[in-house]
Amino acid sequence: ESQKETLGFQTEVKQLLNLMIHSLYSNKEIFLRELISNASDAEDKLRFAALKDDSLFENDPELKIRLDYDAEKNTVTLSDNGIGMTRDDVVQNLGTIARSGTAEFLQQLSGDEKKDSKLIGQFGVGFYSSFIVADAVEVYTRRAGAPVEEGVHWESKGDGEFTIENVDLDERGTTIVLHLKDDAREFADGSRLRNLVKKYSDHISFPVMMKSESGEEGEKGEYETVNDATALWTLSRSEIKDEEYKEFYKHISHDFEDPLTWSHNKVEGKLDYTSLLYIPGRAPFDLYNREAPRGLKLYVQRVFIMDDAEQFLPLYLRFTKGVIDSNDLSLNVSREILQNDSTVDSIRTAVTKRVLDMLSKLAKKEPEKYQQFWNEFGTVMKEGPAEDFSNREKIGGLLRFASTHTGDEAQTVSLDDYIGRMKEGQSKIYYITADNFMAAKSSPHLEVFRKKGVEVLILSDRIDEWMMGYLNEYDGKQFQDVARGELDLGDVETEEDKKHQEEATKEHKDLLERIKNALSDRVQDVRVTNRLTDSPACLVVGDFDMGAQMKKIMEAAGQ
Ligand code: ADP
Ligand code: MG
Repeated sequence: ESQKETLGFQTEVKQLLNLMIHSLYSNKEIFLRELISNASDAEDKLRFAALKDDSLFENDPELKIRLDYDAEKNTVTLSDNGIGMTRDDVVQNLGTIARSGTAEFLQQLSGDEKKDSKLIGQFGVGFYSSFIVADAVEVYTRRAGAPVEEGVHWESKGDGEFTIENVDLDERGTTIVLHLKDDAREFADGSRLRNLVKKYSDHISFPVMMKSESGEEGEKGEYETVNDATALWTLSRSEIKDEEYKEFYKHISHDFEDPLTWSHNKVEGKLDYTSLLYIPGRAPFDLYNREAPRGLKLYVQRVFIMDDAEQFLPLYLRFTKGVIDSNDLSLNVSREILQNDSTVDSIRTAVTKRVLDMLSKLAKKEPEKYQQFWNEFGTVMKEGPAEDFSNREKIGGLLRFASTHTGDEAQTVSLDDYIGRMKEGQSKIYYITADNFMAAKSSPHLEVFRKKGVEVLILSDRIDEWMMGYLNEYDGKQFQDVARGELDLGDVETEEDKKHQEEATKEHKDLLERIKNALSDRVQDVRVTNRLTDSPACLVVGDFDMGAQMKKIMEAAGQ
């Protein structure tokens, strides 16, 4: 039935629309990238679905995107012959936001346009960015394979509601008509649109076609392809400009800021695949959300297979974006198959190494960018030593810490920096953990280290103590928690220090006994120590006992 309904947007959509229209005002042109991105995704999805059922092509197998405009009517129209949407799809996809955590995210927004426009970059704008330039948007769509009468017409002014009705549509796929705002008239212009397509969508896999205006190539008025239309990763590195790599990142990632770095590799031999991997400059709002989408885009022989293929990367590298295009996997590979496939395991091992190498290189060559990476994703990298035992040395090299050397809360010190500053005779890497930086920094455990000029790493992230449980050594040097057990300062401690401690222990034997009795079952032992210079006493944890931070985590988990 074709009955017309008026429905309200989900509250989150209303908030997002509001925000976007105001904060992305100076970034208007991104709407085109978003819409072409969606059209390209829709073509990809159709090609994938048609692997099983080629009747979905409906005698129109040439996948393409068409871009038109009408300067008089002040409209821009984008059409694809991709997978299309059913009525239910439309209500769901163009009326709600399905990502969990969205409501909480939107609540953080301040109303300060500058700040919000950055935050919104962590979110991604998508289809709703149409309303930055349009005061009314119409969508015509029909799902591939559905009857002509099941076409859908959706319309909205972006003011809180939309209408939806069934209409007859001969062609499958989706057409989006933007009724431009007065201040967006510039987009109803052939050369402006061509430039934008070249700029943002040159290397998507499908042709974007516009009517020829010059008549230079082909007949005037006939559709001609305006982009390069070869998937970026299939080109060789030397053919690709940095700008093109960056635009392709934005096409696949939802992000509209530049990536920090990327790595593009064609692998031939035992395995045959191409990987294009990116490190984002900013963490998405749902980095810590279990259900958040993550993983790479998987293609097999250039045919799109799935988004968010998680099996190609360990969890602690989940911030990585990119594409894997395999020539070894079968076109009908599924998520289940990916889970127990030895080819996938091999690719995962190689890709993991690539990401770690890319980060090491960034750290070496562009330390400021690496610092930005660490500030955004450091706590995720800290999951690495536990999850990826075989790479823990490499991961160790990528970690950054606060330290008594800088005295600063910022995590900027690498283990290599630390080792370079080790004292003669020092064999261990010393660290302290605490709930927060100030507590750690003022701990009496640090007194003797200050006196001896020995650097101590200061760990105060929630995950730190847990991580240290998996990080036993780096570069052949063991880690030592300064608040644990007998303190062994190696050769930094002089014979004199040791003798002094022994003598004091003998001399104060009675006092030690008395304190121990008084504290009875609350302590295991009471000892004389060289640890302290100013404080009279401190608590230490046994070598094999749970640390204070860990205890709290376990308590919080109800154990
Ligand atoms: P995203 O692309 O990140 O999923 P968007 O807001 O851009 O988010 O689009 C929302 C959803 O709407 C898409 O996931 C897709 O299901 C659907 N959609 C948008 N544009 C098209 C299109 N041209 N053809 C088919 N489906 C589309
Ligand atoms: Mg999109």
